[in-house]
Amino acid sequence: MDIFQAAMTEILAGNLNVFDELFDGWKNTRPEEFSKWETIRTTNLMTKATWFFNEVKGLEWVRLDDNPFCKTLDGKVIEMGASCRGSHFVGKNEEVVSEPAKVLKPSWNVATPPLYGDCECMIAPIKD
Ligand SMILES: [Zn+2]
Repeated sequence: MDIFQAAMTEILAGNLNVFDELFDGWKNTRPEEFSKWETIRTTNLMTKATWFFNEVKGLEWVRLDDNPFCKTLDGKVIEMGASCRGSHFVGKNEEVVSEPAKVLKPSWNVATPPLYGDCECMIAPIKD
């Protein structure tokens, strides 16, 4: 039984405060997590856009954290493509398999880092 099934069971049993602990935790952690995520994402997207308009041919994923999924992507090179938004390192619902074997399937096209919650990776330009 996953966390949501367990929560629904509690709610149907009349325990309407089942999410209080979860939401209280989010109040303490979500602002920092969200700001870190957006900082990494926005920095990499702006970098990618700048390089696109300066005719950089490709991008390389540069791992700066110990996330096992990022280790899988470290050094991956993609072509910039005809559009800044068209190229991505991982496609929507594409599997990224880490060592030890775990699978991540992002629900969006991963055009730049971050890939995962603690991701601090960056991109590097490929000129030729
Ligand atoms: Zn990363």
